[in-house]
This record gives sequence, C-alpha cells and structure tokens, in this order.
Amino acid sequence: MVYDLIIIGSGPAGLAAAIYAARARLSFLVLEKMPLSGGQILNTYEVENYPGIPTIGGFELGMKLREHAEHQGTEMIHIEVRHISLEEQGRIKVLYTDGKEYRARTVILAMGAKYRTLGIPGEKELTGMGVSYCATCDGAFFRGRKVAVAGGGDVAAEDALFLARGCEKVYLIHRRDQLRAAGVLQEKLRAAENVELVWNTEVTRVNGEEHVESIWTRKKDGTEQLLEVDGLFIAVGNLPQTELVAKLLQLDETGYIPAGENCVTELPGVFAAGDIRTKQLRQVVTAVADGANAVASVQEYLYKMI
Ligand SMILES: Cc1cc2nc3c(=O)[nH]c(=O)nc-3n(C[C@H](O)[C@H](O)[C@H](O)COP(=O)(O)OP(=O)(O)OC[C@H]3O[C@@H](n4cnc5c(N)ncnc54)[C@H](O)[C@@H]3O)c2cc1C
Repeated sequence: MVYDLIIIGSGPAGLAAAIYAARARLSFLVLEKMPLSGGQILNTYEVENYPGIPTIGGFELGMKLREHAEHQGTEMIHIEVRHISLEEQGRIKVLYTDGKEYRARTVILAMGAKYRTLGIPGEKELTGMGVSYCATCDGAFFRGRKVAVAGGGDVAAEDALFLARGCEKVYLIHRRDQLRAAGVLQEKLRAAENVELVWNTEVTRVNGEEHVESIWTRKKDGTEQLLEVDGLFIAVGNLPQTELVAKLLQLDETGYIPAGENCVTELPGVFAAGDIRTKQLRQVVTAVADGANAVASVQEYLYKMI
C-alpha cells in the first residue's frame, strides 16, 4: 500500500499533524519509536503556557493529544524508522524499519529533539545514579537533598524551580553572567530562597562511586570548587533528531532542518514540523501549529501531484 502521508514521530507536532490529516481524510500512518506517544512533553512536570489550559501536567497533555489523534482515527505503529529512500523520481518515499517497509507519497518529519550532554568525566558513568536530564522525571528522588542544575535557558530555570519545591538546596550553575531564561522565570528564581545562582562557572567532573556525591566546578578565572550534591541535572539544550535525513537534506549550521512556517523542505513531498525545523521558539504551541501547517502543505502537494 502507498499511503498519502506517513508522519514520523508522535510528539505534539506529529499528533497535531495526525489530527489534521484525519480530518482531511488522507490515508496516513504515524510511526513512533517509543512505547508511548507525546514526545518530550511527557517528561515535563507542568505546562502553564498552552493557551486555554492554565495548568496541565506534561504527561497528561501528551496523553490528551494522543487520545485526540486516536479519536479522529489515527493508526499508530510503535517502531523506529531507520532509513528513508526515494523511488519513482522521488514521488514515493520508502521508510525502512526493522523488518518492514512503508511507502508514502508524502512524509512529515516530526522527530523532535533530545537532550545534549556535557561530556565531562563521571557524567556517563553516573547517569541514572544522580545524573539526570529530566528534573520532572527524577526530581522526586532528591526530596530534602542538595542538587545542582547546569544550564542557563528556560529548561534549566524551570528545572531549578521545580527542584526547589522539594530539595533542601539547588545550585543553578551557568557559564555566563546572566541567564537566557524568560524574565518571569528569572523573577521566580530570585524569589526562591533555596536557589543559589552560580555565575561564570562550568561543571567539570561528577564524583561518586554508586551515586553522585559531589561535583567539581571551575569559574572563568580558573578557581575550582567542590560542591557536595546528591544530584546533577543537566539542561544545556537539545539536539535535533535529524540523523535519519542527514544525507537526504541540507541541514542548517546547528543541525536543524531548514523549513519555513509552511514546513516545506527542499525535498518535494517531505515536510518538517516541530522542534526539528529551524525556528525561533521550540514549544508545544509552535509544534502543534507546525503539525497543522505541514498537513496543509501536504494537501497542496498531493493536489498538484494528481
Ligand atoms: C524538560 C522540558 C520541559 C518543557 N516544558 C515545556 C513547557 O512548559 N511548555 C512548552 O510549550 N514546551 C515545553 N517543552 C518543549 C516541548 O516539549 C517541545 O517543544 C515539544 O515537545 C516539541 O514537539 P515535537 O513533536 O516537535 O518533538 P518531540 O516532542 O521531541 O517528539 C518527537 C517524537 O518523535 C519520535 N521519534 C524520533 N525519531 C524517530 C524515529 N526515527 N522513528 C520514529 N519516531 C521517532 C520521538 O520518540 C518523539 O516521540 C519542554 C521540553 C522539555 C525537554
């Protein structure tokens, strides 16, 4: 069978695309490599910036998006797409998974992003034993303890605030002298009594045998300090999940897929939606907007193909 559309990834962008594709009565399929749909938002404690829903748990929002897509009749298969090739002068896209191939006239790439590592000694060895990339997933294990967060953007600030609710002390360690995080988050950080901002400093090593016991930090002037913490939360940005298309498409200098609001890429019939594309703001609200726009572009492409 050749589908009108295959959506790769079922985060907010992929699920919004599924809702729009179902309503457009396209024959389509969603392929998702994880056992649960929802993408990064599943690991988010609270979402307070999705218009119309003042506060919702990230997991709950992910589940609601999935339910909505399924309610519209979305067919979802939990399998990883490992390779894409083109047939019939690019008119047919072939998606290879372990054991099965899927064919479609159009593809929406909605594979999102994943966390970046620091690459310091002890980080890999102690991941899951005090080193975490998801405060909302692991924060509860550190109730009443001392922890550090490395980073300076929105996610680092949110993580520090979330951890401050249950931890005795939170160090927010940033290599510059000011945060990139939104003003409202910075205000909350300054108001939190158990958050200490550590400026111009990098984490250089994580120490511990069976779990994190301390971290070494280094200031810009070279001063080193040992901080006794039970956990290190790393929030230093995301990596776009573009390996699958790195040979098919030209990526931008930071590895994202160049595509505008219409999600059209340089490859006819291939569209990029959500965190994976070059854009100003990577959030649920922009990801779901992309999902809708991508399907509008798919319809236009299919219409011209006939
Ligand atoms: C800790 C944290 C807190 C956040 N807080 C907020 C917030 O409060 N508000 C907000 O608006 N946004 C928040 N975000 C950002 C938001 O989660 C993302 O912008 C959004 O999830 C992007 O959606 P997406 O669909 O583009 O990608 P993703 O959510 O990354 O989903 C991509 C999906 O594609 C799948 N996939 C990848 N490769 C393949 C493959 N080869 N085959 C099959 N499937 C594949 C992945 O498994 C994943 O399910 C937060 C993010 C994080 C990490």
